[in-house]
Amino acid sequence: MEKPKDRIEQARRRLLKAAGLGSLGALLPALGCGGGSQGDDGVSVAQGRSSSNATALPSTGISGRVLVVGGGMSGAAVAKYLRLWGGSGVSVTLVERSASYTSNIMSNMVLTGQRSIGSLQYKYDNLVSRYGVKRVQGEVTGIDPVNKAVRLASGSTIAYDRLVLAPGVVFTYEPGLGGIPGLETAAAQARVLHAWQAGTQTTALRNQITAMPGGGVFVLTIPAKPYRCPPGPYERACLVADWLKKNRPGSKVIVLDANPGITAEVHSFTDAFMSVHAGVIDYQPNVTIHNIDASTLTLDTSIGSIKANVINAIPPHRAGKVVTDAGLADQGGRWASVNQLSYESKVAAGIHVIGDSAGTAQPKAGHIGNQLGKVCADAILRAFAGLSPDPAPVTNSACYSPITMDSASWLTAVFAYDPATLSMAAVPDSFREAASRSGDNFSKMNKWFSALMTETFS
Ligand SMILES: Cc1cc2nc3c(=O)[nH]c(=O)nc-3n(C[C@H](O)[C@H](O)[C@H](O)COP(=O)(O)OP(=O)(O)OC[C@H]3O[C@@H](n4cnc5c(N)ncnc54)[C@H](O)[C@@H]3O)c2cc1C
Repeated sequence: MEKPKDRIEQARRRLLKAAGLGSLGALLPALGCGGGSQGDDGVSVAQGRSSSNATALPSTGISGRVLVVGGGMSGAAVAKYLRLWGGSGVSVTLVERSASYTSNIMSNMVLTGQRSIGSLQYKYDNLVSRYGVKRVQGEVTGIDPVNKAVRLASGSTIAYDRLVLAPGVVFTYEPGLGGIPGLETAAAQARVLHAWQAGTQTTALRNQITAMPGGGVFVLTIPAKPYRCPPGPYERACLVADWLKKNRPGSKVIVLDANPGITAEVHSFTDAFMSVHAGVIDYQPNVTIHNIDASTLTLDTSIGSIKANVINAIPPHRAGKVVTDAGLADQGGRWASVNQLSYESKVAAGIHVIGDSAGTAQPKAGHIGNQLGKVCADAILRAFAGLSPDPAPVTNSACYSPITMDSASWLTAVFAYDPATLSMAAVPDSFREAASRSGDNFSKMNKWFSALMTETFS
């Protein structure tokens, strides 16, 4: 008798054939869809390069209704792969508040004027036209797990069989919850920006930087980990320093890190701070910010008082509001514990949490978000077919970090499920970083970014 597992594999093969993809062996992940195979641009290619027509998606015999909240790196990926692998019987609705997605990845280059925010925006048209994802623009305001439905700000409700929450993060400003004192008001937050969610804050921070005088001081504060994109703040310090060197000579970048040391790409950023940007970047680990006075742009810190021209304070963050409101952020009210084979919440059955909101040892990164979307899609399809999740998922992350406006380093890591701890753990020796920064890495970075975004949104 044909097993449901065989039906899934056969369906995937039919879908790939329909999409004109030849070498199944190279493209199909060995177990499930978690990691996929690695392209020469560092992105797991899996089945994602296909551009099948939604109307041509065959039935796999699997059926169910999935509602995805949040159309970012992980939400777009899970929506796409649920349809691509699940076929026409799997109904996927994607609710995203914005008309298009603005990528955080590469957004530090908006600060140097090398990219515009518009160049980082991705629409949902391909998910709709190629894969038949139903797109709803709206804000999810509540979940009714008993009746399996979500409420939207518009007042409407949408029913689901499985719910996937992929809302990214929100920033913590309440001092009682670990926020930086002094930034509680909207006025303070409008002056002291985070620009850690790409969009209007990113262009506003760019404007603050270009308004700096020569010999000015830019202060960047980094929260204790875990935070979104471990190398991101150090990359930002490097890019801003390089731009200031060229355009506002004599300026300084002071990095106040709550962590005991650089949290990612230690070799590359130590070289950057001590050598490439020596005399411009002043890196200070283990710093506590007691208060920021947004009106005078003065920081009261454990290493003394600092007066700045621009303060870029990245507050601590936590899971998206829809996750915390639903009581799923069981890790100190910040992150959601999940079964790391399926990303199903440990608090609420039938609700999956992926991307930055999920509390795992994997970094909060867009590349990982894409991977979690695939693992989750595979697990949901297996559940619809009455199967257990893939018992051995593997994920990987690649990240390029500009060190100057025309050179970059890189970092890669692989994670595998550890049955002893029931969690995803770093594969020993899989953390690799570039031996040195280079212009070649910089151009590969653009290729990697383009491949990742195509893989997720097209
Ligand atoms: C400056 C910077 C640089 C970065 N560089 C890299 C990099 O080089 N490589 C890398 O891998 N990662 C990088 N990252 C990290 C990466 O951007 C995030 O880890 C990734 O975007 C997380 O994906 P996500 O799906 O969890 O959340 P997001 O991508 O933030 O998507 C969440 C989506 O959910 C929507 N949403 C939230 N709540 C609701 C709701 N209630 N109703 C409807 N919609 C909702 C939001 O509008 C948003 O579109 C960087 C981040 C920053 C800030």
